[in-house]
Amino acid sequence: MRLSTGVAAAMSANLVKRGWSKPWASTLAVLAVCVGAGSTCVLIAASAHEYESGIKWLEPKVVDPGPVGGHPADAIVLFDGKDLSKWKGGDAWEIRDGYAVGKRNGISTKEAFGDCQLHIEWATPAKVEGSGQGRGNSGVYLMGLYEVQILDSYDNKTYFDGQAGAIYKQHPPMVNVCRKPGEWQSYDIVFQTARFGEDHKLIRPASVTVFQNGVLLHHKQALLGPTGWRILANYNKQTPARGPIALQDHGNAVRFRNIWIRNIAEDEKP
Ligand code: MG
Repeated sequence: MRLSTGVAAAMSANLVKRGWSKPWASTLAVLAVCVGAGSTCVLIAASAHEYESGIKWLEPKVVDPGPVGGHPADAIVLFDGKDLSKWKGGDAWEIRDGYAVGKRNGISTKEAFGDCQLHIEWATPAKVEGSGQGRGNSGVYLMGLYEVQILDSYDNKTYFDGQAGAIYKQHPPMVNVCRKPGEWQSYDIVFQTARFGEDHKLIRPASVTVFQNGVLLHHKQALLGPTGWRILANYNKQTPARGPIALQDHGNAVRFRNIWIRNIAEDEKP
């Protein structure tokens, strides 16, 4: 063993001369000698210099992700199929068979949110009526300001920044992954609010990442400003730090189910 130790030291010194860092040279040399000797010390030697970045991390919290079709344990459930008590205007909507149907007015959460992860499932009417923007139109508003469009875009052409998954009038989705009318679809949205300085000037625009049915539509897409219909969106006015999640009523019976949200701001991680 003394001979092996000497060989390892010599090999390590040689590797250092060739530019290897000392810990790696030492590990490699010991490993080589041990393998050569068929020794069980291989694993011990290999783990003796495990790489550590030096950065101290807090242990990630354990969160039960819930069953498929459910929600993570640390999510705020906004609609569980039973009632819309967490929403303003929800009384006008019809609830049956675990879903809510849009009617008469839009609805918005009583609670306000900033940076968040939002999951929502929706289905446009199975019976196809109308065309373009008139077919299965609704929308998810982040902070009540920025619309991610809901539309029946299955074999239904409209302007590209107004089809399903578009950031309305700002950015088309990367792809059209709409399911057939009447089928359930999902949006998973990661949203970051716009940040303003003390002088009320924009430091960083709001941004979204959006998945529809698990497929990426937008990746950290910067938003031009609150959604407008006939204007180019802008940040001429400072937006609040938080706002409600809102669902648009556009006169079509779009259904919703399984809506949950997680706060993800650095200072309010669950
Ligand atoms: Mg809409």
